[in-house]
Amino acid sequence: MSHAGNPLSDPKKRKAQTMLVHGGMERSQHGETSEAIFFNSGFVYPTSAGAEARFKGDEPGHIYSRFSNPTVEMFQQRMALLEGAEAARATATGMAAVTTAVMAQVRAGDHAVAARALFGGCRFVIEDYLPRWGVDTTLVDGRDPANFEKAMRPNTKLIFVETPTNPTLELVDIEAVAKIAHAHGALLIVDNVFATAIWQKPLELGADIVTYSATKHIDGQGRAMGGIILGSKELIEADIHTIIRQTGPSISPFNAWVMLKGLETLPLRVKAMTESAAKIADFLADHPKIETMRYPLHKSHPQYELAKRQMGAGSTLVAFSVKGGKAAAFKAADALAVIAISNNLGDAKSIISHPSTTTHQRFSDADKLEMGITEGLLRLSVGLEDAEDLIADLAFALDQV
Ligand SMILES: *Cc1c(COP(=O)(O)O)cnc(C)c1O
Repeated sequence: MSHAGNPLSDPKKRKAQTMLVHGGMERSQHGETSEAIFFNSGFVYPTSAGAEARFKGDEPGHIYSRFSNPTVEMFQQRMALLEGAEAARATATGMAAVTTAVMAQVRAGDHAVAARALFGGCRFVIEDYLPRWGVDTTLVDGRDPANFEKAMRPNTKLIFVETPTNPTLELVDIEAVAKIAHAHGALLIVDNVFATAIWQKPLELGADIVTYSATKHIDGQGRAMGGIILGSKELIEADIHTIIRQTGPSISPFNAWVMLKGLETLPLRVKAMTESAAKIADFLADHPKIETMRYPLHKSHPQYELAKRQMGAGSTLVAFSVKGGKAAAFKAADALAVIAISNNLGDAKSIISHPSTTTHQRFSDADKLEMGITEGLLRLSVGLEDAEDLIADLAFALDQV
């Protein structure tokens, strides 16, 4: 080939934005420019012996799209390059990724520790499902690493955290918690949805497994559900691959293709959205109708120093509570003309939600308070609209309170 000797022939020598456009690309015999959608369930074999060899693992190749598929494989490869992971497996949703990653580490008689401030579904898996399968769980205040140390037992197999947390944007010190996990022979799983791979690299900080809801920033345009699990070849290709193969939380090739195309513009979108989010955080911080405002890289954040250490920027989300509780929060949200009331995040469209009555509704008042979810709290996912319009929209809405 004419580009023999060109150092950029090695995908690992390319910068992130280049990898996100080309990484994992596998062209068919037709030489298509864009990634092809292999929208098929099965694969044919040249001979019976060929089928036997493939099932035995003696010959490479796809067998069935529940286990692997060329389009899904391209998405996995591209994500692994972005994350700096040895291997990845995509799933149908973010929750399928979290459930699979957790299931692979524990069996009856084991113990798991998690930070208590979690996305609703993640907390359900840890708090309700693991005990049903005979796995004891302990939830701790994740802001202080010492709380994880205290919770560890000889049979603790994993620590699960989300940072920044949903919806309160509290942080967990990934490096400190990874050290605690490893000192006790446990693994650290980090749900990195809020920070995105653009602003935080948990594997570099010592985490063993990273999960994403690809539904959020990776698609980023409100179209498709998906998830992905990343880590070492050893962790991913053993139990995690087997659980996906045998229980079937597999992603549709079409959704994997949507995610692949999303990755091409991920840094551009996340950077623009983050820039707007930082401006909105500044605007809200001094607003007279606001009780508290949380944004990881705002000087007022109680964990500002940690944010500076482990995040490249403050992310695309801002959490704030309106003075006057639920009635005031509802009034403000209802007065917005551009920002929509919805519960997705990481979307090109700005979205606001009232966690206490929606995503975290099922929790008791005591649990909500412990997680910092007050009646006046709103979570804003900042989209790709003009930042001046978003600030004007918020200013009008808050004036109505
Ligand atoms: C949305 C989300 C999930 C779940 O992802 P789905 O794709 O909706 O299943 C898990 N963790 C976090 C932090 C999320 O925001």
